[in-house]
Amino acid sequence: MTTMPDPKVIKEPSFRESVDLMFNRAAALMDLPPGLEEKIRVCNSTYTVRFGVRLRGQIHTFTGYRSVHSEHMEPVKGGIRFATSVNQNEVEALAALMTYKCALVEAPFGGSKGGLCIDPRAWEEDELERITRRFAYELAKRDLINPSQNVPAPDMGTGEREMAWIADQYKRMNTTDINAQACVTGKPLHAGGIAGRVEATGRGVQYALKEFFRHPEDVAAAHLDGTLDGKRVIVQGLGNVGYHAASFLQYEDGAKIIGIIERDGALFDPRGLDVDTVRAWIAKHGGVTGYPDATHSADGGTVLEEDCDILIPAALEGVINLSNATRIKARMIVEAANGPVTAGADEYLRDKGVVIIPDMYANAGGVTVSYFEWVKNLSHIRFGRMQRRQEEARHQLLLDELSRLDKYLGDAWSMTPNFKSRYLRGADELELVRSGLDDTMRGAYQSMREVWHSRPDVADLRTAAYLVSIERVAASYRAAGL
Ligand code: NAD
Repeated sequence: MTTMPDPKVIKEPSFRESVDLMFNRAAALMDLPPGLEEKIRVCNSTYTVRFGVRLRGQIHTFTGYRSVHSEHMEPVKGGIRFATSVNQNEVEALAALMTYKCALVEAPFGGSKGGLCIDPRAWEEDELERITRRFAYELAKRDLINPSQNVPAPDMGTGEREMAWIADQYKRMNTTDINAQACVTGKPLHAGGIAGRVEATGRGVQYALKEFFRHPEDVAAAHLDGTLDGKRVIVQGLGNVGYHAASFLQYEDGAKIIGIIERDGALFDPRGLDVDTVRAWIAKHGGVTGYPDATHSADGGTVLEEDCDILIPAALEGVINLSNATRIKARMIVEAANGPVTAGADEYLRDKGVVIIPDMYANAGGVTVSYFEWVKNLSHIRFGRMQRRQEEARHQLLLDELSRLDKYLGDAWSMTPNFKSRYLRGADELELVRSGLDDTMRGAYQSMREVWHSRPDVADLRTAAYLVSIERVAASYRAAGL
């Protein structure tokens, strides 16, 4: 086992450097033509916009970014983040991760990411709308928002509301573009969105874990056994991704959410917390402080280090790093956030035998369903609209035959109660989206797993994920003659 590098001696790499270090580790195991490795690694362009908006009687200047990492496929895709911590380094790291993520889940996009340096909670809704629309205008006029070139989505600090403003702004600037709605994904359902997009990233985290637990050898590698039922889970960040992941794992798979870490501290209860009750408390009180039914720690970091089976960081990058990696007791870490484990911590935890489900796979549910939404917008028809009743009619035929058998066999056989109504119902959009997402998450896991188990020089899922992704991006460049 390797010992932990002294954090005072070894400088923690930046987020961008961390992504590059992880990329380099995988690329060293490949036989890429000279120059191609660098071409894939580097960020193609990063645009910085500074714009002023008159608010509260004075002009406020905001800084935003849109970075395009790779255009081996277009449009490029990636969320827009609203946070005070947004900077060029972060946006470029996130754009690079988008390239690898899209390749891994076979979403036909290049990688991009955007961010606005702002505390969204410091502004009223109408002010935020004016700021968002102006940011969208700055990006759209440079084709950094465009259905065929660059399609943003929600990320930290943004959601359906902001995506609806962006889509509307783009439409106002491109009144004759019939595909204008496809300029951004993660929109509300009544504004061109798709059923299941809000839950998609958390749902993808659940599907990733379900797939992992279908393989007893993989589960054993994390020093665990059995199923998700009863597994002790700690979640950091009860926002869009963290909330949905935690609630599906608790209410559908029987996992026990023993810790929830938020901005203002953490809650811990070894008997399990009720996710919806905590969520409602946060919505009402603005944080977890004062929640009556659990132990509260003002320093959330301590709960990150509590003993648990599955740790799900779903907030920020770099939260598991050289300063706390030795104290992490989780058997496995599922990177619902982007970049929550730094390259140094990753190396230490890997050597210690902690299984890490890497971000580019674990949180790919968002971009997968965004892909479905983009296709829906371009085809101008909701999924399932043509097939649903036809499917029901065919099922009715079979049920009619079974009913005859039912009568004929008397007491010897009968249909299970509810079978008729359950079988008869054709799939609606939500069911189709979940099915497509489940299939994608299973397929991507299989591709990583195959590399993980077949190559003695690949010891972890992250390296395997990079190998699969880099190979696919390289194949795209080769096909284009580069
Ligand atoms: P969000 O804004 O909905 O939620 C973030 C949550 O983290 C909030 O509840 C916030 O209070 C909490 N938080 C902020 N700072 C914290 C801190 N220091 N300690 C603990 N909690 C803190 O954001 P989100 O969309 O859920 O995104 C979370 C992560 O998931 C990000 O890394 C993002 O890049 C990644 N991600 C999001 C999506 C998506 O579809 N939204 C897709 C892929 C990846």
